[in-house]
Amino acid sequence: MNASKLEIFQFPCRQDNYGVILHDGDSGITISIDAPEFEAVDDVLESRNLKLTHILTTHHHMDHVEANEALKSKYGCRIIGPADEADKIPGIDKSHGHGDSFEIGGHRIEVIGAPGHTLGQVNYYFADQGVVFCADALFALGCGRIFEGTPEMMFTALNRLAALPNDTLVYAGHEYTLANAKFALSVDPENAELVERAKEIELLRDNGKPTLPTTIDLEKRTNPFLRASDAKIRALLAMDDAADVEVFTEIRARKDRF
Ligand code: ZN
Ligand code: FE
Repeated sequence: MNASKLEIFQFPCRQDNYGVILHDGDSGITISIDAPEFEAVDDVLESRNLKLTHILTTHHHMDHVEANEALKSKYGCRIIGPADEADKIPGIDKSHGHGDSFEIGGHRIEVIGAPGHTLGQVNYYFADQGVVFCADALFALGCGRIFEGTPEMMFTALNRLAALPNDTLVYAGHEYTLANAKFALSVDPENAELVERAKEIELLRDNGKPTLPTTIDLEKRTNPFLRASDAKIRALLAMDDAADVEVFTEIRARKDRF
């Protein structure tokens, strides 16, 4: 196994997306997590003199796959994506589903099925780096909108992510954190750590800085979508005796109306 540290470059693109490029100087591999926009991704590659070898696609939405074909024709990179929506991923070469793992440049990548936002979304966990790419499943202080799946699916997906080691670095597909923080405070107003975090987020955004990556631990302590079992949140929702998945479903419904 190649335990060398991957360099990670996160950059904003489109309206509120993040692109991420990973590079391993030893093996020479360069991976783009999704391909939101050709120019933005290509600028990062060109400015660092990197040749793109792989794209790891999380789901079929346009803001995650738009540049697949343009990047593939420029770099001849290999595109790996979700098995359950492979037919919707432009240029896909190989697909994987939940529980699969594969190797790139000696780094093992575990595939975590994360349906809900779309039916086939996958997340990629780089175990030897302690990093996970959650796209539109888990956000800082939020979770993805449930477009194609069910709340039960999304709840299962989030539990899989929450089960990763606490210090796992979490990269997500969008900078939604400020709006998410406002909602989080509406259901978990007495969470002192959340109150503090919301202030820090405001400061970061005022200075044009990213609020990502986050960590699994920080999300478990402050993200209401990972806190369905919390007594205070349940009391506020008058759902003291409900199942966790029901509490989660109610929180998601409230966010949709917020
Ligand atoms: Zn999406
Ligand atoms: Fe998206």
